[in-house]
This record gives sequence, C-alpha cells and structure tokens, in this order.
Amino acid sequence: MAYSYEAPVSQSLFDRASVVTPGGVNSPVRAFRAVGGTPRFMVSGTGPYLTDADGREYVDLVCSWGPMILGHSHPEVIAAVQEAVSRGTSFGTPGEGEVALAEEIVARIEPVEQVRLVSSGTEATMSAIRLARGFTGRAKVVKFAGCYHGHVDALLAAAGSGVATFGLPDTPGVTGATAGDTVVLPYNDLDAVRAAFAAHPGEIACVITEASPGNMGVVPPADGFNAGLKELCAANGALYISDEVMTGFRTSKAGWYGVDGVRPDLMTFGKVMGGGFPAAAFGGRGDVMAHLAPAGPVYQAGTLSGNPVATAAGLAQLRLLDDAAYAKIDAVSAELRSLVGEALTKEGVAHTVSAASNMFSVFFTDQPVRDYDDAKKQDVFRFTAFFHAMLEQGVYLPPSAFESWFVSTAHDERAVGRIAAALPAAARAASEATA
Ligand code: PLP
Repeated sequence: MAYSYEAPVSQSLFDRASVVTPGGVNSPVRAFRAVGGTPRFMVSGTGPYLTDADGREYVDLVCSWGPMILGHSHPEVIAAVQEAVSRGTSFGTPGEGEVALAEEIVARIEPVEQVRLVSSGTEATMSAIRLARGFTGRAKVVKFAGCYHGHVDALLAAAGSGVATFGLPDTPGVTGATAGDTVVLPYNDLDAVRAAFAAHPGEIACVITEASPGNMGVVPPADGFNAGLKELCAANGALYISDEVMTGFRTSKAGWYGVDGVRPDLMTFGKVMGGGFPAAAFGGRGDVMAHLAPAGPVYQAGTLSGNPVATAAGLAQLRLLDDAAYAKIDAVSAELRSLVGEALTKEGVAHTVSAASNMFSVFFTDQPVRDYDDAKKQDVFRFTAFFHAMLEQGVYLPPSAFESWFVSTAHDERAVGRIAAALPAAARAASEATA
C-alpha cells in the first residue's frame, strides 16, 4: 500500500535505527508493521499533542500506551521531576518518595495492604506470579487468550498486544517446561475455568487476568466474570491476580477495582503510576506479601526499584488525579466514542465501539466481541485504512487494531475538534478499503 504523505526525517531515523536495533524499534508495535508505512519518531509532546521529527503535530490517542493521563509535559509533573533530579537520580537506598508513592497506592486501592515497587509492568506480573507460586507451593498458572501481561515467559502463550498484532501463537525462546505450566483459556468463559480447576486439582497457583482487557482491543469482562474468577480461586486454594497495569489509576481513582469492586488477592500496576517514567508495582493481601524477601523467602529485587525521579513523577501525577480529572477523561472518551461511531455509521462501515470506563477501541465488525477469537474476526484491513487516513490528517492512533485508545485530561475542545474533522475522510477510507 502506498501512502500519499511522507515523513522523510522519521524515515531516515528509522533507517539508522534499523542498522543498530532489531526492526528499528525498542518495542515491536512501534514499528508500524501491522499497518505499514514509516513509524513516526516523536521529538516532543505538549498536552494532547505530539510533534514528530518532520515537524508535524498530531493529536495523540495513544498517550504513551496509557501513562500520559494528564497529557504530555504537565507542568506540575515536570516540576516534580526537575525538583527530584536536582537532588540526584538514584541512590540504591530507601527514600521518602517511594514510601509516599506506596502510601498513595495503599490509600487508593483498598485490597492492597502492602505493595512492592518495580520498574515495569512485566516485572510486576512476573513477580506476582512467582509470589503466588511461592505462597501456594503450586506450579500452574491460568491466563486468558488475548490478555497481555508483559513479556513474561510463562505468560506469552496466546497473549494480546504485540503478540496479537503479529499473530504469534507463542514465541521462540520460551521453553516447553515454562509454557507447560501455563493453562490458556478463552476469556469470559467461567465454565472453562471450572473445568481447568477440575482437571488440575491442587496444582493451580493462580489465575491472572487483565482487570478489564485492553490488549486484544477493549473487551470488558462480562457481568459476574471477575467475581466468578475470585470465587473459583477461593474455592480451590488459588490466588486471584488482577492485572491493572493498564486500568490502574485510569478507569477510576481506584482503577478497575473502583469499577467492579471484586477484591483480588494480588494486583499489578504500571503505566499511570509512573507519570511517564519506569515505575510499576505489585501488591495485595498482607499475608501473601509477607512471603516476599526480605520479610519472607520469595526473592525479588531491583537496582532501580523505587527510583526517586520515577516515584516523584508518579506521585505528582496521582495527586492530580482527583474526581474532577476522571470526570473530564470519561466525558472526552464518551464524546470521541460517539463521534467515531457516527462517522463509521454514516459511511456504512460495520463496527463496534467497545468501551470499559474511559478506555475504548473500535472493532471493524458488527458482531459482539467477548473474547480474542471474536476480536480476530474483525476486518483488520479497514482499520489499516482508517489508521492511515487519521495519521495523514494529524491524529495519532495506536498502530494496531488490537489496542486500546487512550485519552487524557488535556484532550480539550480544540483537540476533539481536530479528531472530529479527520473522522469523515477516515471513515470513507475504511469503507472503501479492500482486503
Ligand atoms: N500488563 C498489562 C495489562 C499491560 O497492558 C502491559 C503493557 O502494556 C503489561 C502488563 C506490561 O507492562 P510493561 O510494558 O511496562 O512491561
């Protein structure tokens, strides 16, 4: 497919990058392979806008894949970072910032009695699973097809996100022994979970699920699904791990827990809590967390865990996220969802706008999407055309049909207006696209 617009500086950076970095990127989806064309190399971000190396400005609906919930370069977050940096960048000792961030998390999310800070969502889920295995003395982990929990070996089976984009059922490098302890089930199917517990009595350490999945596109849990998981785990001596790396501090003040109130044994966080820096966490029941070193025997550590700059950014961001901020994000999300839906309907494009609180994505199918198999049945080629038409008009969408779109408090009337103006041509491009 040829594109009518050019990005020469991004292209030359991509050429250089491709020499020294596999595929030219440090995280696969950034390479635009699912949609084709030249990935945009961004040089700055302000509020809802990103500017690329060619000097073009975009309304950003990726928000760094979730973290930038206040928009880019929020003055108070930047000031907190500058203040922290002026005191040094890493000490390798405990510091007050990490205590304050942990207190903020514990105060917001009632099931979290204790929390351990790490540097990425991957580390958070990897550590939570190790802890669940150490606590229960069991090996098996249940996960759901289409749920992505980072690139943890044991969790890369039938994962969403980049793995969904590239259609990799598994990845080379994950051994049979590792994958063999992972039981992959269809999402939103409690009978499958019941059957798994029956098939592996006393062997399942935990069930891990995205609190509300965003990595196969947005596919919210069916009514009672999370509560059913919790019940089945409790009845079978397994831990219920809710992965809130994406939903945490985004879908409400208390993340998805604040929406459905189902109490996990362990939870994982990342993205928003780092304010754009590498900070993540896992936490939950005090008796489970007490098994973690140095309080207990399950080892887990990190040179940069609780980094003072990252914790300052995260804390500043969380403190700005009050009820008014969430109301604003929810309203912008609702407005965009209806604008997208109207534009696609007008052009007769089969679609479903799927939302979970303020997270949403568009499936190019009019059939209900309840799991990963449903998500894969959409007309991905229509998304590709839609994506490029939006990009050409200065709107930056996730470069894959299997990702959530993200908005921020900074998405104001002007930004929404620019998206609205771009939608008719993009909807037309989707309608005219051929497989
Ligand atoms: N869990 C979920 C639900 C995610 O969406 C992600 C990343 O997108 C991760 C875990 C992994 O986080 P990270 O990319 O910070 O390692």
